[in-house]
Amino acid sequence: MAQHSVQAVIITIGDELLIGQTVDTNSAFIARELNKIGIWVRQRVAISDDREQILNTLTESAVQARVVIITGGLGPTADDITKPTLCEYFKSDLRLDESVLQNVTKIFGRFGREVTERNRQQAMVPEACTVLPNKRGTAPGMSFEKDGVFYFSLPGVPSEMEGLMNDSVIPMLEEGLELPVIVHKTTVTMGQGESFIADKLQDFEAELPPHIKLAYLPNYGIVKLRLTAKGTDKAKLESEVAAGQQTIKNLLSEYVVADDDVTLAEVVGGLLKKHSRFMCTAESCTGGYIAHLFTQRSGASHTFKGSVVCYSNEIKENPLCVQHSTLVTYGAVSEETVREMAANARVLLKSDYSVVTSGIMGPDGGTQEKPVGTVWIGVANGDEVRTQKFMVHRGQRQKNIEQTAILAMNMLRKFILEKEEG
Ligand code: AMP
Ligand code: MG
Repeated sequence: MAQHSVQAVIITIGDELLIGQTVDTNSAFIARELNKIGIWVRQRVAISDDREQILNTLTESAVQARVVIITGGLGPTADDITKPTLCEYFKSDLRLDESVLQNVTKIFGRFGREVTERNRQQAMVPEACTVLPNKRGTAPGMSFEKDGVFYFSLPGVPSEMEGLMNDSVIPMLEEGLELPVIVHKTTVTMGQGESFIADKLQDFEAELPPHIKLAYLPNYGIVKLRLTAKGTDKAKLESEVAAGQQTIKNLLSEYVVADDDVTLAEVVGGLLKKHSRFMCTAESCTGGYIAHLFTQRSGASHTFKGSVVCYSNEIKENPLCVQHSTLVTYGAVSEETVREMAANARVLLKSDYSVVTSGIMGPDGGTQEKPVGTVWIGVANGDEVRTQKFMVHRGQRQKNIEQTAILAMNMLRKFILEKEEG
């Protein structure tokens, strides 16, 4: 795939990236966006705020790629030296850009602050560049073209970089380069590991034509399968990928959760909406994390009522009305407790469905009888309460919580499907 594409190099600049203080998320975002329009990222490089390193990396990148995207080092402080270094690389002087100065003045005016000389410096740009307006901050993006290579320099702040990628960089690349059509289609599966799925798909994969690739993306028991087709005829690629996805769905039927790259919360939310149902959660060991996942989507109020974070036994008893004797006899992490939690949460929170959790997330709190990782999950509707015990082994508390949330959402998904769609 690589050798036929327009190729790109991403250079992220900043000492903070090299000492691990800031995780480089920018290059992942940029790579995703470039990939969507058929540009192949052949290299991602992180370097320090160092003149010589910046110059060398630019020179090396221009030999390898048609597109070079740089982030970072555009701040108004002395440690940020990308701009003067770009002047040197493009043999260009600085000029004052009126539109950038206006933007800087407007942003400072909004906060009732005066524009200092240091801020005015943000409006100085290399003469060789085209200014890319930054709606979210004071440092503008810049584009350059030299010897057939397109260069873009973007601020390091992720939201500003993302805005500039969407507003300027991607449209300019689509306009300026002849790009192939790339079509992606993702199928989300749950309940089986990669190897099992790879065995099931072995013949299908072997028969794929060279312009269609299958990628496996495993995470927390969810395996996403992405089909990517590349060519020139969009309609043909779309129908090929759709046919491929149908085969995958036939081969893996009971494990398929969604036929788009969506989260489990979105799948469950979609099901509830379709059937005009509401859900709620009562969460002990997940501490509200499942509620958080469901309320990340706008429009959640149409399907989600609320949650009781019943971390203590006291709250399990009141307001959730789990009987004191149940907690004493069986313990908080038990089938009997989650059964009452599920039934009572649904009534208390006036919902059609409930999903509840109680478990030991570690690293402390395990016993021989109930080791770390023991989780009881319950789901309920008006007719039935269903419970299941799971063992999660992710090694870290936060990861155990995330895994529990996924298991709970999947249990609820299956329960709703059975009740609503038989
Ligand atoms: P700068 O443009 O170098 O002043 O960067 C401003 C801020 O953006 C830095 O303090 C970082 O927190 C953040 N940042 C810079 N580079 C990256 C990157 N590659 N990924 C994520 N955040 C970044
Ligand atoms: Mg910096």
